[in-house]
Amino acid sequence: MRNVWKVSLLSILAVLFLAACSGDDEAKDSTETKEGTNDEAIQVVATFSIIHDILQEVGGEHVDVHSMVPIGTDPHEYEPLPEDIKKATDADALFYNGLNLEGGKDGWFFKLVDTVGQKEENIFEVMEGVEPMYLSSDDGTEEEINPHAFLSPAVGMQMVENVVAGLVEIDPDNKAYYEENGAAFLEELEEIDALYEEKINEIDEDKRILVTSERAFQYMTDRYGLKEGYIWAIDTEENGTPEQIKQLVNFVKENDVPVLFVESNVEKSPMETVSKETGVEIFGEVYSDELGEAGSEGETYTGFLRKNIEVIHAGLTK
Ligand SMILES: [Zn+2]
Repeated sequence: MRNVWKVSLLSILAVLFLAACSGDDEAKDSTETKEGTNDEAIQVVATFSIIHDILQEVGGEHVDVHSMVPIGTDPHEYEPLPEDIKKATDADALFYNGLNLEGGKDGWFFKLVDTVGQKEENIFEVMEGVEPMYLSSDDGTEEEINPHAFLSPAVGMQMVENVVAGLVEIDPDNKAYYEENGAAFLEELEEIDALYEEKINEIDEDKRILVTSERAFQYMTDRYGLKEGYIWAIDTEENGTPEQIKQLVNFVKENDVPVLFVESNVEKSPMETVSKETGVEIFGEVYSDELGEAGSEGETYTGFLRKNIEVIHAGLTK
C-alpha cells in the first residue's frame, strides 16, 4: 500500500514537472508574438549593429534579430561564431550592408552564406541602390568602394526603405505594419538630414573640415559640404604608419584645421600623435563602424547620427 502511494506520488510529481516545462515554453512563445495573433516572429540575422537596429525598429514584434559582429569588433573582417552559423542556417532572411563592408564577394559574409547554404532570395543588401563612393589606394593605382555610407542620414533613408522591402518580401502578411514603422523611421531621418544641413551651415566656411582616423565620413562630408582629413583610408589597410601620420600632420597645418576627432571604435594613439605634432586638440569622439554601447546616446542608429553631428558642430564652432 505504501509503495503504491509512493509510485503515484512520483507520477504526480512527474506530471507536474512536465506541465511546468511546457508552460514555460508557452510563456516564451507568447513574448515573441503579439497577443491575439497567431503569427510567429520571423527570424532574421544582421551582419552588424546598425543593421540590427534598423531591423528591430522596422520589424518590431514581428521580427527576432540576431546581430553577428558585436560592438567592439571590426565588421570589415570577422570570424562568425558557432552561434552565428546556427542562426544564419535557421534564419528566414539575412541582411548585410554590402558596398564591401563585410569584405565583398570574397569576404566573411559570403563565405558564411556558402557554409550555411542560404538561398539567394533570402539575402538582402541594405545598401542596394546607393551610389558607391571610392577610396584610392596609397599609390593611387587602385580604387576600392568606401563601405561607410551609413554615416550619412540621407543614405540611412535608402537603408530603411531596403529593410522594409526585404521584410515585406519575407513576411507579406505584416506588410502594413513594416511600412508604418518604416514611414515613422524615414520621417525621423528626414529631420536628422535637415539637422545636419542646418548645423553644418552654422560652422564658419573655413572651419568646415572633419578630421578622423579612418576615411569613414566620405558620404557624409560629400553631402553636407565638409572637407575630410584622415590618417588611413580603410581599417583593412595598415593603420597609422609614420607616412600616413606625416601626411595628415601636413594636411592639418596646411588647412589650419581647428580640431581633430577620433572614432569610438579605433585605436586612439595615431590621432594622439597627430595632435601632439600639430598642437591641435582632439575635441571628441564620433561613432563610425558601430553603434554605441547599450545605454549610451549612440545605442540606436538615430542616436548615433544625432550624437555625431552634435560633437562635430560643437568642435568646429568652439
Ligand atoms: Zn570602417
